[in-house]
Amino acid sequence: MNVQIKPNDLEAFWMPFTANKQFKANPRLFVGAKDMHYITNDGRRVLDGTSGLWCVNAGHCRPKIADAIKAQVETLDFAGTFQMGHTRAFEAATRLVDLAPEGFDHVFFTNSGSESVETALKMAIAYHRAKGNGSKVRLIGRERGYHGVNFGGMSVGGIGPNRKAFGALVAGVDHLRHTHDIARNAFSRGEPEHGAELADDLERLVALHDASTIAAVIVEPVACSTGVLIPPKGYLKRLEAIARKYDILLIADEVITAFGRLGVPFGSDYFGISPDIITTAKGVTNGTVPMGAVFVKSHIHEAFTNGPEWMIDLFHGYTYSGHPVACAAALGTLDTYADEGLLTRAAELAPYWEERVHALKGLPHVIDIRNIGLIGAVEFAPDPAQPGKRAYERFVKAFEAGLLVRQTGDIIALSPPLVISKSEIDELFDIFTKVLKSTN
Ligand code: PLP
Repeated sequence: MNVQIKPNDLEAFWMPFTANKQFKANPRLFVGAKDMHYITNDGRRVLDGTSGLWCVNAGHCRPKIADAIKAQVETLDFAGTFQMGHTRAFEAATRLVDLAPEGFDHVFFTNSGSESVETALKMAIAYHRAKGNGSKVRLIGRERGYHGVNFGGMSVGGIGPNRKAFGALVAGVDHLRHTHDIARNAFSRGEPEHGAELADDLERLVALHDASTIAAVIVEPVACSTGVLIPPKGYLKRLEAIARKYDILLIADEVITAFGRLGVPFGSDYFGISPDIITTAKGVTNGTVPMGAVFVKSHIHEAFTNGPEWMIDLFHGYTYSGHPVACAAALGTLDTYADEGLLTRAAELAPYWEERVHALKGLPHVIDIRNIGLIGAVEFAPDPAQPGKRAYERFVKAFEAGLLVRQTGDIIALSPPLVISKSEIDELFDIFTKVLKSTN
């Protein structure tokens, strides 16, 4: 057999959410990572200002997680969880529900945020059917929302480019307006003052479609992937109250806000809301092994338990739901979070973080700065001829200067691992300030 191996050829890998031609002409490649830093293929240290992709909450290559994964893969590499099981999955589920907000007593495992969202949407529709409300099938999302890339999540999502190439999407979906309002809320610290009334959009959609047809409303407590849209004061509670009034399930998509990003274990805790379903992924394994976890309250779970004992209660699942190695990674992660107090650490750092991020005000083209927990975002006035270019250029320059940030449109988001020290926060903003000052 004549196999042609071309080491380091960049062509074969069709990279996701990437301008492949541009990237491959000038690639940014990592070969290692430790704690707060990545190591590039040319041996440079890059400060991780974005927790990988919002997932490496405990920092990189943490020993407890690595040891747990290694031990698991040597002991029980795979066992399914359809009509059989393994102890690690039950252990991980129990530990996770212990951490979850009040009332969440069951967890369903997936392999990603996208799958967690599909699972939650399917559960919501099936829940109402099981309760005898088979007409409650519509799903409400929000403009600019990001709920992953599968058909359900894409449909309730509200980011134009993520949707427009992919046909008619799922039927029976409508959207609330987004809450981003620079005119009224620019440079807010924490939750902005204006916009709680936007939650009343749910009333508008109920009037249009009738509550008897609506299964669920899904929102991210903080819409991060779309460029960090922080909910106005009172918005989420108002949305929750309207959902309750009409027996519409509230799904909090906490793929990013769960596991300490806001200084409490879950975003729902932070905002004082009590959804019916919470979707998570990312931080559940500190990004090491793909895994998602969908948390449900007992009334959701119980709706599926009325059939005969021999009957499958939910016709849904993935080969790798509760994969032993992912569960071991989750357990190692939860231990690390607990040992180091990481799920509340963002609360201690938040005031310092807030000062540093807002000190960027006045730098070229900056039209808004926002922050919450250990999240910050800087929005730039778009270049009308090339929207997104300003933030992209700053992202590339930051990388070259030793800092990884995340660009979305003309916004740069910052969300470092929760282990970051104050001096590393200074380092992050010193690099970023220089980049913003030196870029037109
Ligand atoms: N939901 C939210 C709120 C997210 O932020 C993301 C990813 O950033 C997803 C879902 C999709 O997660 P994944 O990329 O793991 O499928």
